[in-house]
Amino acid sequence: MGLTTMIRTFDFNKLPIVDIVNEILYDAAKRRASDIHFDPREKFTMIRIRVDGLLQDYAEVPSDVEKNLITRIKIIGGMNITESRLPQDGSIKIKIRDINLDLRVSSLPTSLGEKVVIRILDYSRSMSGLESLDLSEENYKKVLEMMQIPNGIILVTGATGSGKSTTVYSILQRLNQPDTNIITVEDPVEMEIEGVNQVQVNSEIGLTFASALRSILRQDPNIIMIGEIRDTETAQIAVRASITGHLVLSTIHTNNSLNTIERLTDMGVEKYLLASSLEGIISQKLARRLCPKCKKERKANDYEKELIKKALGKDIDQIWTAVGCDDCQNGYTGRIAIHEVLRVTQDIRDAISDGMPKDELRKLVYSRTQTLLQDGLEKALSGETTIEEILKLIELDVDDVKEEGELSLKDSMEESKISKENEKVAEIENLKEQVIESEEKKEMTPPLSNISNESSISAEPLF
Ligand SMILES: [Zn+2]
Repeated sequence: MGLTTMIRTFDFNKLPIVDIVNEILYDAAKRRASDIHFDPREKFTMIRIRVDGLLQDYAEVPSDVEKNLITRIKIIGGMNITESRLPQDGSIKIKIRDINLDLRVSSLPTSLGEKVVIRILDYSRSMSGLESLDLSEENYKKVLEMMQIPNGIILVTGATGSGKSTTVYSILQRLNQPDTNIITVEDPVEMEIEGVNQVQVNSEIGLTFASALRSILRQDPNIIMIGEIRDTETAQIAVRASITGHLVLSTIHTNNSLNTIERLTDMGVEKYLLASSLEGIISQKLARRLCPKCKKERKANDYEKELIKKALGKDIDQIWTAVGCDDCQNGYTGRIAIHEVLRVTQDIRDAISDGMPKDELRKLVYSRTQTLLQDGLEKALSGETTIEEILKLIELDVDDVKEEGELSLKDSMEESKISKENEKVAEIENLKEQVIESEEKKEMTPPLSNISNESSISAEPLF
């Protein structure tokens, strides 16, 4: 079978499949896995688990028990076991030994068989409140300010798996008071909150985000939570709801404040409506958290020193680094959120409704907002994560590196190199022309072809 060593092996011939599935679910949850994958391969099924964002091989399932295993999972997920040609979704709430598990199951037909992924929902962090979201003091204050506004839109942005739901649920928990009517429309309802009216979208029967929202507005809500803004209609209803006196909380799949504003206007939301309704944008990403037991300091290199100086205006010599011990994985354990929190002030509203060019808007927004890079680097300096983790995350978004001097330095070096090369090419061209002119005068063809060949060879690599 596979070459790598598995985390677990199971005796599939002796143990009942029910016990094996329970053990996999229990063990994965204990290891703080966020997902369990069952990947059909040529000769067996590979089970993989995602822990702290990284997928790891977990166990191999012999092909003769694959079908039983998948069937068992589909049964407890309430899925149709006779259908394996179409994708399906299911959910499981199950208590195994001492833990309550809330699971989402999805199946997808692949050329090698059904691939099943189980997402393990963990709301322990949402339950422990806003204070445990890793917000910096300044960002925490900004979030509290936003939440006190009676009407407007607060957006939480980030990629899938960046902890958006945790943040949204934490805010909702805080807003959930006896004198408020909170209604949510979600797909799926991920965590049930006592005292909140939660609506599950069901597009098969026509209950979409947009149609549910229209009905919700007639239910006298104070606060509306929309699981995700995915389309123009939902975006427009969200804006309208906030302008007519509701606090609207939602998520959107963008990576920072600036891109969020751009995405919403691209979706066809009127600039003046967006400007007057938007209250705040919380963008986030997750970095691996340094293990407190084994982390240590090392000397910072020149690049790191320069980066920290440019991004934070700080001089450093030492930086935290991952080591690794029995209590962690390669020096990391769990994850930490990094944020960019924008409070929309009057001048930003004016800029949005006037359609200020992106570069100018960027300057305005980041004159008072810490970027994800800056927040991440602060957390690296305080030893909660490492600079490597932050650079791995931020590298993905070119827009975030606006503070990174290295890049512009490199760019300008490239530019000067190109212009020098262009000069060289121009010189050669010039020379060629002169030669051609003089050759034409002399009407001597052979030397000309020689020279022009040489010139084009030396010019070639420059492009
Ligand atoms: Zn450790």
